[in-house]
Amino acid sequence: SSWWSNVDLGPPDPILGITEAFKKDANPKKINLGVGAYRDDNGKPNVLPSVKKAEEKLLAKNQDKEYAPIHGLPEFTLSAAKLAFGEDSDVIKNGLNASAQAISGTGALRIGAAFLNSFFPGSKDVWLPTPSWGNHTPILKHSGLGVKQYRYYDAQTCGFDFKGCVEDILKIPENSVIVLHACAHNPTGVDPKEEEWKELSQVIKDRKLFPYFDMAYQGFASGDTDKDAWALRYFLQQGHNVMVAQSFAKNMGLYGERVGMVTVTCKSKEEAERVLSQIKILIRPMYSNPPIHGARVAGIVLSDPELRPQWEKEVKGMADRIISMRQQLVDNLKEEGSSHNWSHITDQIGMFCFTGLKPDQVERLTKEFSIYLTKDGRISIAGVSTGNVGYLAHAIHELDK
Ligand code: PMP
Repeated sequence: SSWWSNVDLGPPDPILGITEAFKKDANPKKINLGVGAYRDDNGKPNVLPSVKKAEEKLLAKNQDKEYAPIHGLPEFTLSAAKLAFGEDSDVIKNGLNASAQAISGTGALRIGAAFLNSFFPGSKDVWLPTPSWGNHTPILKHSGLGVKQYRYYDAQTCGFDFKGCVEDILKIPENSVIVLHACAHNPTGVDPKEEEWKELSQVIKDRKLFPYFDMAYQGFASGDTDKDAWALRYFLQQGHNVMVAQSFAKNMGLYGERVGMVTVTCKSKEEAERVLSQIKILIRPMYSNPPIHGARVAGIVLSDPELRPQWEKEVKGMADRIISMRQQLVDNLKEEGSSHNWSHITDQIGMFCFTGLKPDQVERLTKEFSIYLTKDGRISIAGVSTGNVGYLAHAIHELDK
């Protein structure tokens, strides 16, 4: 016998399973719409030119490889905070942000959750939108927190269930944590409108809830990094203190470099110092300190007067391609003769689109057309290109026949 004879085989990751099946498929027309990473119009991963230039500048500096501080590189964390909160944010000016570099968005969420578990004075149940990113629940549970859900997506309209959302939030016990996707909600692509955010802010304040923003797509949704931070900044203006998890995977294409940050905004500088001291104590036994390369690169991109505007253009380029593929998909469906209302495809925003396709239709798309997507009908618009959008629309329309 072995030490591990009691270990059961775990289920494969649902998304990675799709990619495996896609790779095995010999159909030259096959499309992978499961991928959660940006692809250019040729279906290729994209290293941003601004990132390449930053790497050249970094190499020329010939820096050593010493450890970063536990809470990360200050030249990165300051720029990242300014990106989230705004160039002349009062939060930063007054030193109210306890910010720690983290292992991309996932790591930021995990540290934030660990902090809540140790120090949040209210309920240890955290409220997620239904549905939410598939990793939110395991991250929260792994941190010792409970998970509850509030209504968010309306399957009838493939849009935001504003009424249901507000009704549910009004029932959340006071002094609980609510997770909000700052923009480009994953998996639905459905975001509240500004007016709806305003009401949500008020309801959340009235219920005395603590907002935990997951901001994994800043700039990637609208193409404008300020616009995509609107909800977060509005909440701060309204007097909320918040926690926010940032990722630079999508907006800088730094996926595997694992660049992110977690911030807790505080009442005073002195409070922020206390909070950061505890965050450092949480990080130390997990991984001691974060990786330096990606954070140095992101720090240069964000602060270099030449590279920053270049990067903003490049993010907009990615967002615009996604927005344009949404439109082309709808146009192609109309050309095919589809009489369904597909306006949700263009109303939704960001990398993902909840098509409203049912599980049996998803199965047919895969079996009959070699188009791969998750069972919930989510497609990654990043996998759609001018070369395959016609075939995709054709296949979706064929499902009606
Ligand atoms: N939050 C959401 C909503 C996401 O979609 C993702 C990436 N798929 C993340 C967080 C974190 O990703 P990463 O750890 O790669 O930054």
